[in-house]
Amino acid sequence: MLIVIILIKEIQLLPSDQNRMTRQRKVILEELKKVTTHPTADEVYEMVRKTLPRISLGTVYRNLETLTEFGLIQKIEVGTSQKRFDGDIDRHFHVKCVSCEKVFDLPQNQVKEPAFQKDVVEGVQIVNYSLHFTGICDTCSTS
Ligand SMILES: [Zn+2]
Ligand SMILES: [Zn+2]
Repeated sequence: MLIVIILIKEIQLLPSDQNRMTRQRKVILEELKKVTTHPTADEVYEMVRKTLPRISLGTVYRNLETLTEFGLIQKIEVGTSQKRFDGDIDRHFHVKCVSCEKVFDLPQNQVKEPAFQKDVVEGVQIVNYSLHFTGICDTCSTS
């Protein structure tokens, strides 16, 4: 009898857990999609607290990781001291202010992606590359 119960539990848990979009997760996703500021987890926490006043910072962190794993948001890898997140999952490039670490989107038509043979390095198949830019934002350059 016990075995049967465990099996039923597993069958019910696995598919629903993978697709589960909790209310918290949904609010985090919606808030992230509203902005183009590439907020840190702390900033996302401040944003979602207006809708979910009792959410914890840890829950926000965990849900940001899960949403990234699901491919619903992306983590920005541009060498900022804190991780930053983006609700825009289309391929695009970023400019990081070297002074305040704010991250901006680069207009896609401004970047000519390199065209090279996939086997340009002997013994290695290139499958992807990352590219990001650094700059000084207006706020930092005038202060
Ligand atoms: Zn700046
Ligand atoms: Zn972006």
